[in-house]
Amino acid sequence: MDYEEMVGRFVEFFREYNDDRNYIEELKDLLVIRGGRLLLVDFHNLLSYDFELADELRSDPDTVIRAANEAISIVLREDLRREDVDVKVAFVNYTKTFTPRQLNSSMIGSFVQVRGVVAAVAEGERTNGLKGFVKRSVFVCKNCGEEIVIQQDPYSNGSNKPEKCPVCGGNKFELSLEKSEVVDMREIFVQDPLEVLSNVGNASYVRVVLFDELARANINPGDEVLITGIIRGISKKKNSKVLDWVLEANGVVKLTKDIEDIEISGDEAQLFEEFARAKDFEQRFIDSIAPSIVGMDIEKKVIAWALFSGDDLDTPAGHVRKRVHVLLFGDAGTGKSEIIKFAAEIAPKGVWVSGTHSSGVGLTAAIDSMDGKRVLRAGALVIGDRGVVALDELDKMKDEDHDKLLDALEHGRFPFNKGGFHTVLMARAVVLAAANPPGGRFDLNIKTPLEELMRTFDQPLYSRFDVIMPVFKNKSNLEEIARAILDKHEGKIRPPFGKDFLTRYIVYAKRKIRRVEIPDELKRLLLDYMVKLGSVSDLTATRLMEGMIRLIEARARMHLRSRATIQDFLEVRRVYNEMLKRLVLSEDEERWKDALNALGGVIWTNEEKEKVEILLQIIRFFEGDNGAYLEDIVEEAKLQGIERDEVLKLLEEMVRSGLVKQVGPKRFVTKR
Ligand SMILES: [Zn+2]
Repeated sequence: MDYEEMVGRFVEFFREYNDDRNYIEELKDLLVIRGGRLLLVDFHNLLSYDFELADELRSDPDTVIRAANEAISIVLREDLRREDVDVKVAFVNYTKTFTPRQLNSSMIGSFVQVRGVVAAVAEGERTNGLKGFVKRSVFVCKNCGEEIVIQQDPYSNGSNKPEKCPVCGGNKFELSLEKSEVVDMREIFVQDPLEVLSNVGNASYVRVVLFDELARANINPGDEVLITGIIRGISKKKNSKVLDWVLEANGVVKLTKDIEDIEISGDEAQLFEEFARAKDFEQRFIDSIAPSIVGMDIEKKVIAWALFSGDDLDTPAGHVRKRVHVLLFGDAGTGKSEIIKFAAEIAPKGVWVSGTHSSGVGLTAAIDSMDGKRVLRAGALVIGDRGVVALDELDKMKDEDHDKLLDALEHGRFPFNKGGFHTVLMARAVVLAAANPPGGRFDLNIKTPLEELMRTFDQPLYSRFDVIMPVFKNKSNLEEIARAILDKHEGKIRPPFGKDFLTRYIVYAKRKIRRVEIPDELKRLLLDYMVKLGSVSDLTATRLMEGMIRLIEARARMHLRSRATIQDFLEVRRVYNEMLKRLVLSEDEERWKDALNALGGVIWTNEEKEKVEILLQIIRFFEGDNGAYLEDIVEEAKLQGIERDEVLKLLEEMVRSGLVKQVGPKRFVTKR
């Protein structure tokens, strides 16, 4: 098929195709309403209307795209009387979809569709990776003034220049930027979608080059995208025979409804409903989580509930967090890592990452280098936006991630202002974390798990977890574990539900139960529970109750109920009691208050807040390079009317809340 015929057939397609879409009408809308310059053409429409033309796109994409663009300008001119605008075609919904991992050099020159998640954006001259690319350079001969036009190749190093003037033979030229054609350009890195990932660091990625309208599109790290385009070969060095490739985008579609992709049939839904009504349903669900890890029922139970967390709400009154965050804190070798990893695997969207970052991929986001380019690289929390992030070895997290993690846990987003980037990254993930105490194991004769927790993390971080469950290497069930290992070797462990079942059930439950109602009598029970636990401040009680409500809602959703029941409350209370008991190693409820205060946050009275401000000023004054000495602080505070005992109490709370850090014996610094 020659070029002219292609143009003619495209003109006919745009004018005549009138099945589910009408492209003439869409062109009108595009110009009048949306102000866009990109006409999205569904490849399946073309396929059904003109199979031969569609087939040409496969083999000769450059010519076909050029022909389609010319056809659009003809239609604009003849049908819509518009000659002043430039609309380009973007083919979307292609027949076959690849993941970045599946791309290979045999595809160079062909049209493909790739599905993945935006992992990084290359830095540009302007903000958020945007830069100008000189597509057509106009050189002016310094001798005779002749203008010479040179097409530039975005994939080669350096720029092409004319060798000699065709008119006078001179070889001195000046580049005229005013006459040259400059287009916007942006480069992003797209990695394999999450369902084929075990660890973000191992992902394959493809560099995607976006021009013009696509470069300016609102695409951010963490977005799931479907990209059509042409694979271009690029030589790594000049004249090198080794080729790399990039994807030059033709169309980009953002996919936001990730869990909607999984279809549940009516029969399957009925099956789920029956399962949910069974008396032992929750136990069977729990038994299906990391079946090789024996015991740990209460840990698995909380993790299971968290998988049914609701989506955060943005209300006129502010952001309401519905995501449940869980921290399993305790002895190494108990299987807590396996449990959270398993949870990420069965979550409809899940990522696993270790705090040690051995893979080089961060937890939040960082400036990194990919293909020799400086990029903003998204970490696990961004890649796992609206999913589940299993965060192993939280205690080894990098300091630079700390503040962003706090924002992500509470608000589901964090600002990123570094390099040429000024953006807010979305990170609405349910976080399931595991951490060891400083020595790798608890020494319960010396410190309670609560004390170890406060030694390992600052209070703003750990208080953002709704449940912090201490995990002990329990010697008493050694026999049970030994038997389970034997059973495992003999293939006797058969989890009640397989992984795929669990995933599909979660999708079904989250789709069916959007909101869970908490009846008033449950709220009263919660309040009574707080009162019974002793005199914590109102604000602490409120924060703790919010956490329990999140858990109650998640459990109700797991049981496919849109209204929480007393049973939900009783189960959550049982887990809460167990957590408090383990944190302070005591059944004595009087002692649970310490744990409640730690989890609910340090709440100062106004008078105390003023004193905290004064102490901060004093520490700032004395801290220098080595920190402020306790005795200096006490002496100065006394002059300002704060007694020694109160200084000690407030200092301890300031350390807990992360306002100041203890850097040595009796030495303190403010958080600089
Ligand atoms: Zn010349």
